[in-house]
Amino acid sequence: APRDGNETGIYSPQRDIYNESRLTLMADLRKALQQNQTMLYYQPKQDLETGHIVGVEALIRWHHAERGWVNPVEFIPLAEETGVITQLTRWVIAQAAKDLADLHQDNPELTVAINISARDLESKELQGELHLALQQNGLQACSVTLEITETAAMLDPARSLQALNVLAALGHQISIDDFGSGYSSLSYLKQLPASELKLDRSLINDICSSESADVIVSTAIQMARSLGYRVVGEGIESAEIAGRLKAKGCHLLQGYWLCKPKPITELKQWLRNYEAEERVARAQPL
Ligand code: C2E
Ligand code: MG
Ligand code: MG
Ligand code: MG
Repeated sequence: APRDGNETGIYSPQRDIYNESRLTLMADLRKALQQNQTMLYYQPKQDLETGHIVGVEALIRWHHAERGWVNPVEFIPLAEETGVITQLTRWVIAQAAKDLADLHQDNPELTVAINISARDLESKELQGELHLALQQNGLQACSVTLEITETAAMLDPARSLQALNVLAALGHQISIDDFGSGYSSLSYLKQLPASELKLDRSLINDICSSESADVIVSTAIQMARSLGYRVVGEGIESAEIAGRLKAKGCHLLQGYWLCKPKPITELKQWLRNYEAEERVARAQPL
C-alpha cells in the first residue's frame, strides 16, 4: 500500500540533489499518466449529524517502477512548477468521473471532490474537460466538487475569483481546502463562490490537548457557519476529536479514524459494509 498511515520507504524528490532527476521524475510522471500507471484513492466524507457518507475525495497515487510510492506532497508541487499538472488534472477528472458513475450504482447521491491547483484555474481547458467527463458519464455538475486550497486561491485573487465564478455558475460546488494553514482572510475568501470550508488538520489536531487550539477551532467553525459555509474537519484521527467537532457544529468529517483513502474496489466494499453495519455505531452521539 502507499504511504497512508505508513510513512516508511517513501521516495522524496526533495532529497534529490540534481535538478535533472526532478525533470526525469516529471518525464516519468507524464508517462505514468499516459499509461494509466497512476491511481486514484478515495476518502469518504461523513455527515456528522446522520453518520451517512455524502461524498468522497479523490487523491492521486503513483507507484514508480524503481522508486516505489511517490508522495503527492512531493510531486504535486513539482507538477505545478513544470506544468505537468494540466495533464495530471485532466487524467484525474476523467478517472474520477468514471468512478463516480460506478459508485452511483449503489448510491446516486454521492459526490466526488477533485483537488484543483491554481495553475488549473488559469487554463481554459479545465471547464471543457469537466463538461466532457460529466457528459460521457451521465453526471450532473453538482456531483463534482472542486477543492482549491486557500493559498492557491490567494495567488492571483482576481483570476481565481473569475474562474471559480464560471465553474460555480456551471453548477460545481467549490470547496476551500486546508483552511487555517495559510494567512488568507475570511473577508477575501468570502468573495469566492465557495459553499464548503475544510479546516486544516494542523488546526484540529491539538483541540483535545490545548485550550487555545480548542477555542480557535470553535471560533473558526462559528464564523464559517455564520457565513453560510458547510464546514468539514480534515484529518480526524480519533473518536474524541470527532465528537468534539460535532458538538462545535462542524458538519462533515474526513480522517483515518473513519476511513483511510482506498482504491475504488475497496471503497465500494467499504461503503456497502458501512451502510449495512457501521453507520449507526460511527454516528457521533450528542
Ligand atoms: P488535501 O487535499 O488536503 O488531502 C488530504 C490529505 O490528508 C491526503 O494526503 C490524505 O491522505 C491525508 N489524510 C486524510 N486523513 C488523514 C488523517 O486522519 N491523518 C493524516 N495524517 N492524514 C490524513 P495525500 O493524499 O498525501 O495528499 C496530500 C495533498 O496533495 C492533498 O491535500 C492535495 O493538496 C494534494 N493532492 C492529492 N491528490 C491530488 C490531485 O489529484 N490533484 C491535486 N492538484 N492535488 C492533489
Ligand atoms: Mg483536498
Ligand atoms: Mg486539505
Ligand atoms: Mg492538504
